[in-house]
Amino acid sequence: MSELLARHRAVMPSWLSLYYESPLELSSGEGRRLTDADGNTYLDFFGGIVTNILGYDVAEVREAVERQLSSGIVHTSTMYLLRGQVELAEKIARLSGIPDAKVFFTNSGTEANETALLLATAARGTDQVLALRNSYHGRSYGTVAITGNRGWKNSSLSPLNVHYLHGTDRDAPAFRAMSDKEYIDACVADLRDVLATATASDVACMIAEPVQGVGGFAMPPAGLLAAYKEVLDEQGIPLISDEVQTGWGRTGNSFWGIGDTTPDALTFAKGLGNGFTVGGVVARGDLMDGLPAKGLSTFGGNPVSMAAANATLDYILDHDLQANAARLGAIVLERLNPLTELDTVSAVRGTGLMFAVAMADPATGAPSPALATAVLEETRRRGLLVGKGGLNDNVLRMAPPMTLTEEEAREGAEILTDALRAVDAGTGT
Ligand code: PMP
Repeated sequence: MSELLARHRAVMPSWLSLYYESPLELSSGEGRRLTDADGNTYLDFFGGIVTNILGYDVAEVREAVERQLSSGIVHTSTMYLLRGQVELAEKIARLSGIPDAKVFFTNSGTEANETALLLATAARGTDQVLALRNSYHGRSYGTVAITGNRGWKNSSLSPLNVHYLHGTDRDAPAFRAMSDKEYIDACVADLRDVLATATASDVACMIAEPVQGVGGFAMPPAGLLAAYKEVLDEQGIPLISDEVQTGWGRTGNSFWGIGDTTPDALTFAKGLGNGFTVGGVVARGDLMDGLPAKGLSTFGGNPVSMAAANATLDYILDHDLQANAARLGAIVLERLNPLTELDTVSAVRGTGLMFAVAMADPATGAPSPALATAVLEETRRRGLLVGKGGLNDNVLRMAPPMTLTEEEAREGAEILTDALRAVDAGTGT
């Protein structure tokens, strides 16, 4: 065990999740490449769980942050007018497509979702929330309560009354034989049943990730969230799209992962600051204005994060990174799709620059977390960083910076393919 790892174990919580048998300490980054403390360089196909949306050492972001720092003010208080906040809020409100949209900034995705829950429960006067099975929404008391992925649910106690809906369990025995249309109809019938028999007097909101990040890039079939929204609209129940992983064009086909459906609120974080802490909610004005008492976030929307976020968002739009995500995602998936012929690979899926490979035990077909771990280690040895996830921890998930080049896309797909074949053949080191 490295000296730093031993010190980490001694003073940090046992439940903190670290990748790799010998965890990485990163020392520098440039473009889509990271270098560790031992001098090894890696192509980054994970982007720090979609945090590094533009990659590393991006001049536009660095200069914007340096300009703010050179003013002498890192941050004072959100009690004062902050130009960067207003400018960013205007952009996000416009991009959200939500009518009369208003934006509140936080420091993280957890706080963004917590705020969305506060808005919806206050507006509707009830604590009943609908979420998807296998979801992940954060690590505070409220967001753990709406997290359905049991591997990341640190407490079964809850401040909310939560009911989990179907959405990404298309392959469960009960649904496997169904067409997408039949599955969507069954999900909608279940939602209607839940609404008719709600355990609380009413329902505050539904929250969903359009592609479940921690859940292993599991996706509801196209049209399901729109079908849910139609039913929710009948009762005025807001739909919140958790876009912490899927926003800003990452999914390729649309700017928000939820696609053509306009939700009542979107939550965002991670990539927007390209590494700087920023998150927030954009919601219908009446929802956002509905809180009865005063409030603020001391650091949420601070000038340094706003400088980084404005520069990052401008970069994404100016360079049409959504189109890049769509084009390169298709190239990678085309390369990875044939891998389903391997006995150890049970699925390859993805949209834009979010793609995943699920690993299964070749003898039983059961999800294999051990094989996923083996591929994680093998890719690292071959100079590629990828992520892991899924309900059973058996899914490799990839979300490279959206500035990825075609050459890098092919290089990463090649390394991943070789690593998967080596593990499948039992020749991994
Ligand atoms: N929602 C989703 C979909 C996420 O993936 C995450 C983080 N993995 C969060 C919320 C929580 O964000 P944070 O870690 O910034 O609190």
